[in-house]
Amino acid sequence: MSDRPKTTDGTVRERDADASARGTEPLLRIEDVHKSYGDEEVLRGIDLEIDRGDVEVLVGPSGSGKSTLLRCLNRLTEVDSGHIYLGDTEVTAPDTDPNAVRQQIGMVFQDINLFAHLTARKNITLGLRKVRGLSAEEARQRADSELERVGLADQADSYPAQLSGGQKQRVGIARALAMDPEVMLFDEPTSALDPELSNEVLEVMQGLVAEGMTMVVVTHEMRFARGGADEITFLADGAIVERGPPEKLFENPERERTKRFFESIRHE
Ligand code: ADP
Ligand code: MG
Repeated sequence: MSDRPKTTDGTVRERDADASARGTEPLLRIEDVHKSYGDEEVLRGIDLEIDRGDVEVLVGPSGSGKSTLLRCLNRLTEVDSGHIYLGDTEVTAPDTDPNAVRQQIGMVFQDINLFAHLTARKNITLGLRKVRGLSAEEARQRADSELERVGLADQADSYPAQLSGGQKQRVGIARALAMDPEVMLFDEPTSALDPELSNEVLEVMQGLVAEGMTMVVVTHEMRFARGGADEITFLADGAIVERGPPEKLFENPERERTKRFFESIRHE
């Protein structure tokens, strides 16, 4: 799965044509999603389709609704109106179990939320035992193989306080991966980390890209966006301003607003 689709205009169109010829549907479909907090409409009609194996990077100014959108995708936040589908399942349907959704759509936050009193391994086996019903031995094996996948095979017995920020974030990724998700969501996974520690997290994420994981990533790490993204969506004031492959949005955006945004983060 390492031959990632190229993000030149022509190649993307070709791949989409292939997909429609096979009759494949996008894996994730977001239709006219609205969300308000009080008087503030935070999401103002979001439409987005993400194909299996694609990496969607969401960018936009602080407060533009990026986190809210991600949280709606795995039912941490309920939409006011609109629909979200994962394959044939409507995520937003009232009778869909949010916990089942969260297994299929894993999420990694900026704030590392590991249990402080549990080792790295135990942080991962907990969900495997409780949610997936694995035996102690199965859970242990799975946890260790996920820790290996994120380069932390040697830290299985460490407690969060003994790990660096980057290592904790990688345990969080391993924990989400252990659930066999169809999609991984990342909400500014590196923004609390020093550059050096950011890199080790970004490398793990690049590894997932190479494995063909479907990912929706909120990040201002433009190296990741350039190297990993199939599409970039620029959000402002709760609406999609522009979407396209990285080169297009970076080099030749249609909208003045997009251009200004990328110029501002270039100078950060
Ligand atoms: P971003 O991630 O792009 O910075 P957010 O989705 O976090 O944006 O927030 C969008 C807007 O919604 C902000 O104005 C924020 O204050 C508001 N908001 C987010 N979550 C809540 C909440 N739980 N209650 C009230 N307002 C919220
Ligand atoms: Mg946010």
